[in-house]
Amino acid sequence: MPRAAIDITTDGHVHTRLCHHARGEMEEYVQAAVAAGLQKIIFLEHYETAIEYFESTWLTEEDFIYYHAEGKRLAEKYQGIIALGTGVEVGANPDHLQDAVDFLKRFKWDRIGLSYHYLQTDLGHVNMVSRRPASIALMEKIGVENVAAAYFDGLKKALAVLPADVVCHLDAVMRHCPSFSFSENHFARTMEILTLMREKDVAIEVNTSGFALRCEPFPSLKLIKEAQRMGVRLVAGSDAHRPEHVGRYFELLPEMLG
Ligand SMILES: [Zn+2]
Ligand SMILES: [Zn+2]
Repeated sequence: MPRAAIDITTDGHVHTRLCHHARGEMEEYVQAAVAAGLQKIIFLEHYETAIEYFESTWLTEEDFIYYHAEGKRLAEKYQGIIALGTGVEVGANPDHLQDAVDFLKRFKWDRIGLSYHYLQTDLGHVNMVSRRPASIALMEKIGVENVAAAYFDGLKKALAVLPADVVCHLDAVMRHCPSFSFSENHFARTMEILTLMREKDVAIEVNTSGFALRCEPFPSLKLIKEAQRMGVRLVAGSDAHRPEHVGRYFELLPEMLG
């Protein structure tokens, strides 16, 4: 039998209350994954470094110590019922990549996801995936094309340095900016990143949170097909920020990616 295009028995991208913008304890997410019939859940909590922002959407080092201890406890408690991994969603900060390299060495990770959320500006950092009107206004002021160029440059730089297993929500940048649309030029930039991913055997995430916003995952089906054609591996992630989001829309993937 040919290997399926994507494994939908593992949710590889789950948050918890520890990142301050998700709800629910780690154990509630594990229970939700069991209820959804999954075989494995991988937590992928937020790490960011040197970000100036009005709120923290990431874990401190102490939070990560608790996170790993709780992950180990739950892995033992749920042994034979569901497999559990503790990973990290590393937010790229292109000017502070060594911080991230050093941090990653301090813990053992089941998966390292690479994302790029916060762009440095003269007015501090802007969250490029935020729906906040102030974030959108700031990106409009900088110019969405300038933000896009910086996004692709920064992600590429981070990918070259960080030991990532997977790139998360590749085209979710400026997803809430009405004036931004993904152009042929952005497509070409994405191809450069996919080429680098293939060289480094970094997988691409099919992030099903996109379905809630646009009837398509992040990245778009067009980009996923391109990644498949190039031989880049696909992994599924719900980007759950509520226990009930675990494994969301996974049932749509086999037919779509077939
Ligand atoms: Zn993210
Ligand atoms: Zn996430």
